[in-house]
Amino acid sequence: MLQVIPVPAFSDNYIWLVHDESSGQTVVVDPGDAAPVLEELQARAWRLHQIWNTHWHPDHTGGNLALKAATGCTISGPDSPRIAGEDVALREGSEVRIGDHVGRVIEVPGHTLDHIAIIFDEQQIAFVGDTLFAMGCGRLFEGTPEQMFASLHKLVGLPDQTQLYCAHEYTLSNARFAAHSEPNNAAITARLAEVERLRAAGEITLPTSVAQERDTNPFVRAASVETFASLRAEKDSFR
Ligand SMILES: [Zn+2]
Repeated sequence: MLQVIPVPAFSDNYIWLVHDESSGQTVVVDPGDAAPVLEELQARAWRLHQIWNTHWHPDHTGGNLALKAATGCTISGPDSPRIAGEDVALREGSEVRIGDHVGRVIEVPGHTLDHIAIIFDEQQIAFVGDTLFAMGCGRLFEGTPEQMFASLHKLVGLPDQTQLYCAHEYTLSNARFAAHSEPNNAAITARLAEVERLRAAGEITLPTSVAQERDTNPFVRAASVETFASLRAEKDSFR
């Protein structure tokens, strides 16, 4: 059994703590900031074994060196000189381990060129960084629309119940854009209301699931890469 705990950071990041009870091992995914991670580890009396980075952006890697210094953890991520303290370079087909659980790495370029996602098939969970967000997707800082569209489809090709752990709380803004782009989609209308309720109560809207994204994510639902590209451009300036 893997336990996954959100650690909020900055204004809207989630750093995910992953804990395996049988081995006692703990991993942190995308620690942009060390302090809240160390606090949570201490509160739970968990010892950090590893960091997994999905991409190099500082809000995902900024805590790497401080956590490594404090805990002696190892750092794995895409092969990039911009990932501080990296010990293990991951690429398509690489494996990561926590206790007896084996996760597989897929490459999902688009937000950055060397973005990866980590999938635990047996547990039906995936850490997707800034590639897919609930009802949205990451901005195209480095990659092309073709790359991002293909990456999103790799993720929503996972089984329906797969839980997707995204790295930001962007769901409300994404839901408003989704309702604007698909005004007659009842699943989107219902999810927007639910997300409004959760956020008004200060609650997290993640993880999401593959099934929910297939039904309510306009970027996933786009019929062609051209439609995807125009949606992405429109969302960049949507308020
Ligand atoms: Zn990013």
